[in-house]
Amino acid sequence: MSLRESAADMRDELVRLRHALHREPEIGLHLPRTQEKVLAALSGLPLEIRLGERLSSITAVLRGARPGPTVLLRGDMDALPVSERSGEAITSQVDGRMHACGHDLHTAMLTGAAHLLSARRDELAGNVIFMFQPGEEGKGGAKIMIEEGVLDAAGERPIAAYALHVISAALPRRVFISKGGPMMAAADRFVVTVRGAGGHGSVPHRAKDPIPVACEMVTALQTMVTRGFDVFDPVVVTVGSFHAGTAENVIPEEARFEATIRSFSKASHARIQERAVTLVKGIAAAYGLDVEADYQVSYPVTVNDGAEAEFVGATVREVYGEQRFIRAPQPFTGSEDFSFVSDRVPSAFVALGACPPDIDPGKAAYNHAPEARFDDAVLPDGAALYAELAVRRLGVAAE
Ligand SMILES: [Zn+2]
Ligand SMILES: [Zn+2]
Repeated sequence: MSLRESAADMRDELVRLRHALHREPEIGLHLPRTQEKVLAALSGLPLEIRLGERLSSITAVLRGARPGPTVLLRGDMDALPVSERSGEAITSQVDGRMHACGHDLHTAMLTGAAHLLSARRDELAGNVIFMFQPGEEGKGGAKIMIEEGVLDAAGERPIAAYALHVISAALPRRVFISKGGPMMAAADRFVVTVRGAGGHGSVPHRAKDPIPVACEMVTALQTMVTRGFDVFDPVVVTVGSFHAGTAENVIPEEARFEATIRSFSKASHARIQERAVTLVKGIAAAYGLDVEADYQVSYPVTVNDGAEAEFVGATVREVYGEQRFIRAPQPFTGSEDFSFVSDRVPSAFVALGACPPDIDPGKAAYNHAPEARFDDAVLPDGAALYAELAVRRLGVAAE
């Protein structure tokens, strides 16, 4: 039986687990109930299991019967602070929490892959690390798991790592999409506080007005992007928050703004940090004001290794047919902490269209929306793809 057929046979169990996770979402780095459910789903399998210390992660290692290299499969498990309005029977039973990014599906798929690969342990030449990760949504759980040793869990670094992500809209149903090179954006936060000296609005020369200086910084940041960065290696700067002052005739002491900064290459990501800080410091200095420029890197660019992305495309085409794979024409503008893995191990991040059959993907609610819905039919697809990638990459042809 092929992995795809075996995965189809597991459909009911995968759906049951996904529904249980969906009804009881947990957010952040500590997901005790989720961890319990996954451990129960993995029980009886020949896995070496290690639990996280600073987060409720699960690292499971499957050692093949024959020696060989190691590959890593990652599934994230956390939900979002969103109040679900999907109208589905499995709607979250926890107020203000929802699996709106589909991580419940990833978790179920990865347990499915653990079952599929455990059943083929005798044919496996090498090891598989299953990385069940909390805290993808803004908490950098992948980084903490790396600090706690996930990449060395099998005794040696993986030769490749793969992650799947379901998308509830825009993509054609049950189609996998990926590309070599940048796949997801880097996302940073830039917090700027301009400090001057307060005073009366009628005698501005006796004060140091931070408002025009902060305004100049906001427009200069846009000029910096268009004059300083290649249009084909885009950078997006959006100042989404700007606050200063209390009354029209009072010059405030302080103005503060915050920006989100997205970039799509390691080079631009490194350069924008330095340039943005230099720019606001230079403008403040020119007017004799002080500035605090707090540049916070959240997630790096998720870069797919060219050969691994090719390998994923070839595997999908062979297992599911030509029409089930699309080469992404450009990166996705979201960001991912799988980037911390892809910075260290040749990786491929793959998106999977998971819009349910009764809605038009063009009109469906996107991930993170309270109305977002995901199709259970992709569960065996994802589980089988994870398993195929591991089996093929370890050098054993699938049956
Ligand atoms: Zn998300
Ligand atoms: Zn996500």
